[in-house]
Amino acid sequence: MEVSFRGKHALVTGAGKGIGRDLVLALAHGGAKVTAVTRTQADLNSLVQECPSITPVCVDLADWGATEAALKDIGPIDLLVNNAACAKLQPFLEVTQDQFEQSFSVNVKAVLQVSQLWQSTLLKIVARGMKARGSGGSIVNVSSQASQCALRDHAVYCATKGAVDMLTKVMALELGPHQIRVNAVNPTVVLTQMGRLGWSDPEKVKTMTSRIPLGRFAGQPLQHLQAVFLSFISSGSQPYLYKHIVQNCCEF
Ligand code: NDP
Repeated sequence: MEVSFRGKHALVTGAGKGIGRDLVLALAHGGAKVTAVTRTQADLNSLVQECPSITPVCVDLADWGATEAALKDIGPIDLLVNNAACAKLQPFLEVTQDQFEQSFSVNVKAVLQVSQLWQSTLLKIVARGMKARGSGGSIVNVSSQASQCALRDHAVYCATKGAVDMLTKVMALELGPHQIRVNAVNPTVVLTQMGRLGWSDPEKVKTMTSRIPLGRFAGQPLQHLQAVFLSFISSGSQPYLYKHIVQNCCEF
């Protein structure tokens, strides 16, 4: 999908692997200046090697103070993709406080924090010269089918993604008047590192794919999903836009 992001500054979290990494490359290919945020330096090194125009930021998004310090000088952002997340799978009765807090810190709290940082930077600019700024911006929160359907061993992950959906709706409501579009994208299984973690057992795979009309997961490369993201990031001018995409219409 060819979309031009020339003249735009995009920030993608969870940029080191999987969906985030792919999106960074697609946005850069589309002409955006991209800031790529993740916590493993080796991933950022290889990303910069692949695409030297990228600005890498290495930080653990679970750490509020470190995140604020790492992102405070990145400048005005037009497009934000809150993609970073972790999936710690365990039966409900075995969930620990630590796993719960770590998951909510990365999957939910960081969405709130990075969006706030982004918003305050943007609003400062808007307050100084709305005309100069023009058309607001776009935030895409990467949620999941898991926000809407119960998946065995995914109690905490499902809860975080349910929270992301509601956060997205309120963000869309409140940021709309500033011409900032906020959307969530809710994919089914994508065979990234995270996808393989939960969906490598052939029996489990069969149960899931039997509910997906196409009968398969999203594979590599991620063109299908990438097109969805890029269209959400780039298109539309509705100030209150909020949409769900469940890739392949998984039936539960
Ligand atoms: P991956 O695990 O492949 O990649 C996640 C990226 O996020 C990695 O680069 C990881 O870095 C980074 N990350 C994780 N925790 C932190 C943190 N604390 N601070 C900074 N960066 C962090 O995941 P996917 O690409 O599969 O998933 C991307 C998004 O898509 C997530 O929001 C996920 O919930 C969602 N999703 C994924 C699905 C799937 O089947 N794969 C299905 C539906 C939704 P590191 O490796 O160094 O930890």
